[in-house]
Amino acid sequence: MNIIVCIKQVPDTTDVKIDPKTGTLIRDGVPSIVNPDDKHAVEEALRLKEKFGGKVTALCMGPPQADDALREVSAMGVDDLILLSDRAFAGADTWATSYALGMAIGKIEYDLVICGREAIDGDTAQIGPQLAGCLDIPQITYVKNVEMGDGKILCERALEDGYEKIEASLPALITVISDLNKPRYPSVGGIVEAYREKEVKVWNAEFIGADQELLGLKGSPTEVRKTFAPEPKGDGEILQGSTDEMAKQLVTKLVDKNILR
Ligand SMILES: Cc1cc2nc3c(=O)[nH]c(=O)nc-3n(C[C@H](O)[C@H](O)[C@H](O)COP(=O)(O)OP(=O)(O)OC[C@H]3O[C@@H](n4cnc5c(N)ncnc54)[C@H](O)[C@@H]3O)c2cc1C
Repeated sequence: MNIIVCIKQVPDTTDVKIDPKTGTLIRDGVPSIVNPDDKHAVEEALRLKEKFGGKVTALCMGPPQADDALREVSAMGVDDLILLSDRAFAGADTWATSYALGMAIGKIEYDLVICGREAIDGDTAQIGPQLAGCLDIPQITYVKNVEMGDGKILCERALEDGYEKIEASLPALITVISDLNKPRYPSVGGIVEAYREKEVKVWNAEFIGADQELLGLKGSPTEVRKTFAPEPKGDGEILQGSTDEMAKQLVTKLVDKNILR
């Protein structure tokens, strides 16, 4: 079972600040981490490898400093580390990012691709589904439980009010949510190996055979016209009284607003 896990390096905050002049993220002074959902993806890949054998490869598209994110998941137990890094990828929207990841994955033998559900900075949750489209393989999103066997994957896919069970034949792509598992801590030996011995292979646009017109800003159909923080809607209201009284006031207000009937 060869598994590829897509990991993204993100700023360690959900309180993303935007430069009002350039409309881009302010990354200065914000430490970077492995996107939280992606650690669940790595954990699941490692569990499947422990059960069925094979290899886990982590793939990350990002600038040279994303090397750190790859070494962090290596310390958890990932075998191979690939960093897709090239100026040609700069300014990529999710479409161009999916294309680049897809071209890189095309160079690796795999049975399963695992992505996080969404990244905490971009927040689109588009990469997994688009990547499955690029690879022309089945996808199951919002996965909270995984079973494998007979060349198939059977997943529980979370819904708002329950879950559905979906089966797909391999190779397939899944996107996972945090209910799936509890990511392991890196081992001390793993940390030493990750930082002293492990090689991070750096692949560029030419190596993956990508069409330069479909990469980065050139290959990005999305155009950000304006980025802004919404104005606060006004002061909140603090209800007074006992718990029962406050609950009654709250229900009355919700009924008045037609939110409750
Ligand atoms: C018009 C536009 C311009 C942009 N310009 C830039 C720019 O100049 N510089 C820049 O850094 N970003 C830029 N971005 C953001 C960039 O497109 C996204 O960060 C990226 O495509 C991932 O989307 P997301 O964060 O919404 O991921 P999601 O779709 O929410 O992520 C889901 C999962 O996909 C996987 N994944 C996502 N991104 C990666 C990755 N890079 N490598 C490996 N796996 C990944 C992970 O498993 C993740 O959990 C731009 C976006 C747009 C729309």
